[in-house]
Amino acid sequence: MLRGEHDAPPFARRDAGGGAAEIAATALAYLDEDQGLAIAADEVDFAAAHAKIALHDTLTATFQIDGRRRFGFAPARRGGIVGLCPHAHEMTEESAALYVVPTPLGNLADLTRRAEEILRGVPWVAAEDTRHSSPLLKQLGSPARMLPAHQHNEHEAAARIVEKLRAGEAVALISDAGTPGISDPGARVVAAVRAAGCKVVPLPGACAATTALSASGLLDEHFLFYGFLPSKGGQRRQALEALREQPCALVFYEAPHRVLETVADMAAVFGERTLVIARELTKLFETIHSGPLTAALEWLKSDSNRQRGEFVLLLSGAPAGADDGEGERVLKLLLADGLPVKQASKLASAITGVAKNALYDKALLLKG
Ligand code: SAM
Repeated sequence: MLRGEHDAPPFARRDAGGGAAEIAATALAYLDEDQGLAIAADEVDFAAAHAKIALHDTLTATFQIDGRRRFGFAPARRGGIVGLCPHAHEMTEESAALYVVPTPLGNLADLTRRAEEILRGVPWVAAEDTRHSSPLLKQLGSPARMLPAHQHNEHEAAARIVEKLRAGEAVALISDAGTPGISDPGARVVAAVRAAGCKVVPLPGACAATTALSASGLLDEHFLFYGFLPSKGGQRRQALEALREQPCALVFYEAPHRVLETVADMAAVFGERTLVIARELTKLFETIHSGPLTAALEWLKSDSNRQRGEFVLLLSGAPAGADDGEGERVLKLLLADGLPVKQASKLASAITGVAKNALYDKALLLKG
């Protein structure tokens, strides 16, 4: 049963009669004039002949269609669109699901309307950090009870969630910010729920990687989401080396206390590629800086405030033809001119854009 149903205003449980037009007319009659409603007729499942409508608040209502509860009526204020979402959720006991719900990265207005409805409607919210997320639920007026689902208890949390789902209770999964399971706990819970044969319903929404990519201006056709690099220098450089020839944009998450050394390592491994630094997305000090790697490193160094906050680092992919022989041709000329390996590879990299370390390795081979 949906919470709040018992508190529904007079509109609740009124039979809208036999058809979509009547449903709409009844809705219009019972909602405030200043809500400026419009019914998005083409989005409504008009196969529903008889609907009972319960208005829970100004944003959500439940339709009883063929005895089944449908969730998703969304009256908007002043000229907004109203409609039954074509994928309206049936939060009935027979189909309790795990809803994977993204939450804002910083700006609360980025919580989608659907996410809001789910967080208000489910009896349980599994959260990475219950203390961190309880103000959000409070603000939404969600009466859901919380259970912890963090990286140290994911197996146990998954078992509890499966238990709830089997008992017919819907559960929403959230992390501290962004999309659960994306460099955040959640994947194990989802895997266990799927393995138990229960339904998982993903909601689209905030994710730092795609938010940064959308504003990066990088033209690579493909991208590879890497997430966090290893925190130790040696392992980090090794990981970067392994990515050197990837012909797609590379997307990393990084913590503020490591951003400088990571960008320095990137400059050493990748040579002059474009780096986009996306910092504090959706927040007051949102900054998106783009430039050649070494210049981007200088930009970061030049103001310690630029090293604060949360970061997505996006690197353009290996240039097309990075391995087409141009780097090697120039390298051979420079070596033949008597330049030492280190200097020749550095110069050849600057001239051709081919990664310095790749040329260095090649130079060592050529020298025999
Ligand atoms: N699940 C989240 C998502 O969907 O993006 C990511 C969680 S991960 C633990 C946290 C990292 O995401 C941060 O260290 C940072 O790299 C990135 N991030 C989160 N919020 C951000 C923001 N507002 N601006 C830039 N990067 C952010």
